[in-house]
Amino acid sequence: MTLPLQNTAFVEKTPLERYVAPEKPSLIGFTRAQLADALGSLDVPEAQRKMRVQQLWHWIYFRGLTSFDEMTSVSKELRAQLAGHFTLARPEVVAEQVSVDGTRKWLLRLPGEVQGERPHEVECVYIPDTERGTLCVSSQVGCTLNCTFCHTGTQRLVRNLTAGEIVGQVMAARDRLGDWPGGTRPTDGLVPSGERCITNIVLMGMGEPLYNFDSVRDALLIMADGEGIAISKRRITLSTSGVVPNITRAGAEIGCMLAVSLHAVRDELRNELVPLNRKYPIAELLEACRNYPGVSNAKRITFEYVMLKGVNDSIDDAKALVRLLKGIPAKINLIPFNPWPGSKYECSDWGQIEKFSQVVFDAGYASPVRTPRGRDILAACGQLKSATEKLSARERMALRAMVMVE
Ligand code: SAH
Ligand code: SF4
Repeated sequence: MTLPLQNTAFVEKTPLERYVAPEKPSLIGFTRAQLADALGSLDVPEAQRKMRVQQLWHWIYFRGLTSFDEMTSVSKELRAQLAGHFTLARPEVVAEQVSVDGTRKWLLRLPGEVQGERPHEVECVYIPDTERGTLCVSSQVGCTLNCTFCHTGTQRLVRNLTAGEIVGQVMAARDRLGDWPGGTRPTDGLVPSGERCITNIVLMGMGEPLYNFDSVRDALLIMADGEGIAISKRRITLSTSGVVPNITRAGAEIGCMLAVSLHAVRDELRNELVPLNRKYPIAELLEACRNYPGVSNAKRITFEYVMLKGVNDSIDDAKALVRLLKGIPAKINLIPFNPWPGSKYECSDWGQIEKFSQVVFDAGYASPVRTPRGRDILAACGQLKSATEKLSARERMALRAMVMVE
């Protein structure tokens, strides 16, 4: 059931902030077809374009070059032409926090914003483990939605990121981690044992990815491309608060793993926690999950469930949760609530999380509690951004200098 418009209006913040394209666009985020068009605009003959696109793709997405000069297989003349019309700019790290457990949180300034205006910034978090390294990427500046337990939801300013700004977060993180072929990895924290620092991507940063569908799709397909960044679709997870019509599209057009922010088992409570539920209630959401293209026991949907003390953490809730998900190939992720100043919720007691998780475990779901990582630096999503927004220009410069000299 969909409510009348006046009742759903507050569910989504509009209008969005305007994106001002830089005078010289960055090639980061260009698909193969867009690169071919860019070469066409430089009068590269059509017969050569496919080969040139392959070269650019390799230099940009496989090697991670930041300058056209280093593209040795490309003629000097074409390199100069490219540099005259395009850049390889990606988001810039303006603040970094490193946790005792090796988790890194970056505040990234998006490239090419208008001079004099306050540039837009997003957060990106790297979570290393012994076998894998996960990068948590943002899809919007702020978020169109306003889940009551989420700090990002309280941010007023919202703008969709371009595909380049989404892929650019991965590139900036790989720059910072020396995670390109021949790079030098960090020595001040855990890095996974394999060749790559970043092996997995989750779209769990700021924003609702399915409200920025086209850019997210293009960005994820670029990340998954085997001749470039080459992170398999099985290792890319898109998290959504439940934009039902775009769930099916995500399965069909992207084919990545899906995570759904469920957080409540009754519509009444979910309407409050995740107001988008008024538009797409639980039954419709779960129906879309059942029909998610490619879903199987080998490719399960992750259901995220934030543990809020006295709100959604009773044993009855746990039992209802496993009943609700019956028949859907699912994983359950219980997330301890990460409090932020002014939030009206508390994290469930550890004993209650254990009891809740036991019910879920007994129903056949393995290790359902997500260990909080980087608690000393993270606080909740969106907090690094708010913390630095409170700093004066001078303090921000100092913070920036600190990052640069490290
Ligand atoms: N907008 C998307 C993806 C970004 S949020 C979504 O909602 O799924 C990523 C995950 O973090 C979601 O499951 C979200 O509900 C959860 N989250 C947000 N704020 C949180 C907090 N303060 N503590 C714990 N989890 C939180
Ligand atoms: Fe947006 Fe996700 Fe936060 Fe909800 S939980 S406000 S959808 S970022």
